[in-house]
Amino acid sequence: MASDHVDVIIVGAGLSGVGAACHLRRSCPDKTYALLEARDAIGGTWDLFRYPGVRSDSDMFTLGYVFKPWTNPKAIADGDSIRDYVRETAREYDVDRHIRFRHRVVSADWDSATARWTVRAHRDDTAETVELTCGFLYVCAGYYRYDAGYIPPLPGVDRYAGRLVHPQHWPADLDHTGKRVVVIGSGATAVTLVPAMAEQAAHVTMLQRSPTYVLALPSRDSLADALRRWLPAKALYPVVRWKNVLLATANFQLSRRAPGLVKKLLRRAASARLPAGYDVDRHFSPRYDPWDQRLCIAPDGDLFAAVQSGRASVVTDTIDTFTAHGIRLASGEELPADVVVTATGLNLLALGGMTLRVDGAEVDLARTVAYKGMMLSGVPNLAMTIGYTNASWTLKADLVATYVCRLLRHLDRTGQQIVTPQPPPDDGRVPLIDLRSGYVLRSLDALPKQGRSAPWRLYQNYPRDVLLMRHGRLTDEGVRFSRAGSPERSAQRA
Ligand SMILES: Cc1cc2nc3c(=O)[nH]c(=O)nc-3n(C[C@H](O)[C@H](O)[C@H](O)COP(=O)(O)OP(=O)(O)OC[C@H]3O[C@@H](n4cnc5c(N)ncnc54)[C@H](O)[C@@H]3O)c2cc1C
Repeated sequence: MASDHVDVIIVGAGLSGVGAACHLRRSCPDKTYALLEARDAIGGTWDLFRYPGVRSDSDMFTLGYVFKPWTNPKAIADGDSIRDYVRETAREYDVDRHIRFRHRVVSADWDSATARWTVRAHRDDTAETVELTCGFLYVCAGYYRYDAGYIPPLPGVDRYAGRLVHPQHWPADLDHTGKRVVVIGSGATAVTLVPAMAEQAAHVTMLQRSPTYVLALPSRDSLADALRRWLPAKALYPVVRWKNVLLATANFQLSRRAPGLVKKLLRRAASARLPAGYDVDRHFSPRYDPWDQRLCIAPDGDLFAAVQSGRASVVTDTIDTFTAHGIRLASGEELPADVVVTATGLNLLALGGMTLRVDGAEVDLARTVAYKGMMLSGVPNLAMTIGYTNASWTLKADLVATYVCRLLRHLDRTGQQIVTPQPPPDDGRVPLIDLRSGYVLRSLDALPKQGRSAPWRLYQNYPRDVLLMRHGRLTDEGVRFSRAGSPERSAQRA
């Protein structure tokens, strides 16, 4: 294993951390690195979530890495295939040899005199604290707590005698065959679980307080299927990737500029797949505009087909109380349930929960401003990966990795050692994440902010970010380059 000082420490061996390591290997092969992973497996999200039907809700031509073609014919892929893809990539680029499993990073201290981070990781298996140093800290720890998903207050739940499960910790022994299931929630997880469980269950009810936009999309990509006969995977991949990027960007822009029109189109598309006379407005027409929250995908219309067949139903109501045998609703209706799944969401967590200190002063994340959506004002030599909210996560993760490699090469070329983002000149601050979903709103106060204009502003626009991150200037008014020795005092100035 590598020594206890490396050029770069990557935190997290999920999709982003493994991708970051591959980019380093490809673009900065002389840099030494270690990857610290809290769990004992590669894959992050795609290893943790094991609920029935777990799958991507964006296409794998954009959720896959820019440098490794997705060759599976399914464009909307199951969790196992995504985990295998990440593992295979780690093996191909020799990343697995650099991973230290069961190392949960708890703190990182920056010292300007030596231009180094001292990173402390807790080993849950041996209860030891391990210390490593690095010149650059690259956090790919995802965006939510791994130990506990979000469960809202559930009145009377103690009375309930059936099985209560959260999708984040799916019990391996749960057999729902022939059971009556209620899935509480209306997000991507509920929309995935309902048709998947309906295949074996006696009946599945999706119980939602309010509806979400659900769009049926083919699980295979017709352009990829057509081109596969003529083009090798390496040539086909960027073509389909860009087609999907442009379609998704156009869809998002249209939703923002003409929300009324997009609402109508989504309603019409849902209605066409539901039984005649179905109350589409009540169950599938949200009050918010499209893309105020992420749009949910139903591959090949599976959710609608489950409702159409009677194997599943949607109920829009609030819980009055759990009873011994199910749930009583505010309307008085009773939903009998042998199994209740709380698909009620995640608890957001920034930077994997680690504490950052810069020259001894603790960084208050809420007072920092993100620079290009990937570095923090006043915090030297640190980058983080937070993916897009309106497009595939990996599109942004790849761009962040490209930018980090450019920065590292720039530091070497210019004889500098430190890059410190500066806060924006004016006081304009806006939330970092522009979704109105409950899980985002619950945590916004604790997260870094963004500025009102570039380079502190995220536009959630991949083509624009390609220009900025791959080809844009590294030296702008948002960053200061320096050498070891001068204490960094701006961490809390933001
Ligand atoms: C069920 C589900 C489905 C999703 N589907 C999509 C989708 O279709 N499209 C899309 O774009 N996005 C999707 N997302 C978002 C998804 O999380 C990202 O696509 C992507 O997997 C994130 O990868 P990551 O490596 O950044 O984070 P993660 O997958 O969360 O991996 C982070 C890794 O860091 C480790 N870690 C965390 N904290 C520490 C610490 N302090 N020390 C050491 N290690 C640490 C974790 O153990 C984990 O292995 C989905 C999310 C969920 C929960």
